[in-house]
Amino acid sequence: MIAVIWAKSPHDGVHHAFPVEAMAHAAERGYAEARCSHTVPSEGLGRVAAPTIPLCAVCAYTVGEELADAGGDPGRLGTY
Ligand SMILES: [Zn+2]
Repeated sequence: MIAVIWAKSPHDGVHHAFPVEAMAHAAERGYAEARCSHTVPSEGLGRVAAPTIPLCAVCAYTVGEELADAGGDPGRLGTY
């Protein structure tokens, strides 16, 4: 199962894919790290229900690859 949460970064205005585990510990760590290694302060995470434009190309590619490897449908980004 691919467990990521898409959130908008206040730094670049782009939506990144954050592992659920990273989001769960964002408050205590003070930040969360996206799949592309972009980090965002926990209070700046703009959590979204589904990824919208602009998407981080590196995150989208990474999640798409994982979905394909898991036999999932890479066309259904956002519904994990
Ligand atoms: Zn990213």
